[in-house]
Amino acid sequence: MPVLVWFRNDLRVDDNPALHQACQRSDDGVIAVFLLASQQWRQHDWGLPKVDFVLRNVAALSTALAACNIPLLVLTTDTFADAPRVLLRVIDHHHCSALMFNREYEWNERQRDQIVVAAMQQQGIPVQIFEDQVCLAPDCPSLQTNASKPYTVFTPFKKKWVKILEDQGLPTPLPAPVQQPPSPLIPTPVPSVKEVGGMAFSGAHLWPAGEAAARARLEQFLAAAIHTYGDRRNLPSIEGTSSLSPYLACGVISIRVCLAAAVAANHNLLASKTGPGIWISELIWREFYRHVLVHFPRVCKSQPFKQDTATVPWRQDQTQFDRWAQGQTGIPIVDAGMRQLNQTGWMHNRLRMITAMFLTKDLLMDWHWGERYFMQHLVDGDFASNNGGWQWSASTGTDAAPYFRIFNPYSQSRKFDPEGQFIRRYCPELASLDQDQIHHPAQVMPLLRTALNYPEPIVDHSDARLRTLAAFKQRSRSSSA
Ligand code: FAD
Repeated sequence: MPVLVWFRNDLRVDDNPALHQACQRSDDGVIAVFLLASQQWRQHDWGLPKVDFVLRNVAALSTALAACNIPLLVLTTDTFADAPRVLLRVIDHHHCSALMFNREYEWNERQRDQIVVAAMQQQGIPVQIFEDQVCLAPDCPSLQTNASKPYTVFTPFKKKWVKILEDQGLPTPLPAPVQQPPSPLIPTPVPSVKEVGGMAFSGAHLWPAGEAAARARLEQFLAAAIHTYGDRRNLPSIEGTSSLSPYLACGVISIRVCLAAAVAANHNLLASKTGPGIWISELIWREFYRHVLVHFPRVCKSQPFKQDTATVPWRQDQTQFDRWAQGQTGIPIVDAGMRQLNQTGWMHNRLRMITAMFLTKDLLMDWHWGERYFMQHLVDGDFASNNGGWQWSASTGTDAAPYFRIFNPYSQSRKFDPEGQFIRRYCPELASLDQDQIHHPAQVMPLLRTALNYPEPIVDHSDARLRTLAAFKQRSRSSSA
């Protein structure tokens, strides 16, 4: 009897714990299944770039599995609620002996998995669940504060995380599966994004699908940029980061493979102030936000991590929001970032921080609006990192820094895009301005400004800052009243 492996956020054959175990355990082959849940994806704000990327990677996965005689069945469900019924039908039809899958950490996904496990138990089908997305599981007993509480601040979390892995050694990546006995089943053709009701994603060519593409990106990063990552990771005009996020978000490459490669590049150290050491820190941020979801599930339910920020009087101004979303705020670095997102499905981390902080602190707009817009437009949309990043920017999250950290978008622009190269790329209407004017075109002569055809700033930064400080203070008063 074959074992059924349910693929979700782990679209690869290499270093895949559930697949590896299924192949080890079964003498009668392995069947793979992927559930295409368009309606659920829409409810989770998956946009065109992400759906397109996922489907192309499911197709690549199907090919890689077929080479090992593992057929991938792609089945359509409306929402997560249908998952038990659809999986039981497959198990029944193909006489599968067990179900295996890798764990997901978001609240809805965990609820779905609970009902799947209960349905399997009722039918006497064994289920095995594996940790995959993280190096240390959220229930790791030693990854706690001295008071046996989950960490709520990144730096102590990181210190402990590093210490545990230094003591116990790095998790070893698992090999790709060996050939299974031939299967009579034919893999299901994987629909394209157009076939599931979308349009073609114009940025698809920037994000080739498949494990080989992800590996190639990692190798390219290891060959050069990782060593200058510390100095260059904040400069959006150059390729100073790995751009592996879409692949990590869908599990096309494993975190263990990335970590092992980074540690090797870091002279076998997990922590250091070198490029590879700083890159490892970013991988730990990703892991930290996953732990936050599990220990503080309120963040999955639209609530702020810091509960006393629930009363901040966020604004809901559709016109201003649309100008932000379309890259028409009149603040070039913000507009360039938003246009990069809209055109490519990806945005540089420094710009994600600048644009998110601008929406929440300069426009005082509800961070949920921005979180949703990012999710709908990012190819690497990942609930944990996106929610973590937005709550960090809005000062509602785990960040230890107080709410009055408010980026000045003009100084950020001068610091991280000093010659305006990035702005010129995405705001070509400003290309004629020199490297001083380009950060703040509202300061150039009115005649020249009119010729630019670029909007006046949507807000005065100094006034906006004061308004936000007042809003947060008002929140303190109402929560202590
Ligand atoms: P690199 O700099 O090469 O980093 C390597 C990997 O580490 C990334 O691929 C990513 O998996 C992880 N990582 C890096 N920085 C962070 C971070 N701050 N938090 C969590 N993980 C990190 N990342 C997503 O993957 N999906 C999202 O939906 C997402 N939304 C964000 C929203 C906001 C408002 C902010 C401020 C950040 C968001 N991030 C998100 C985190 C970060 O911006 C991206 O992971 C990073 O820009 C991806 O580029 P890269 O692969 O070149 O990263």
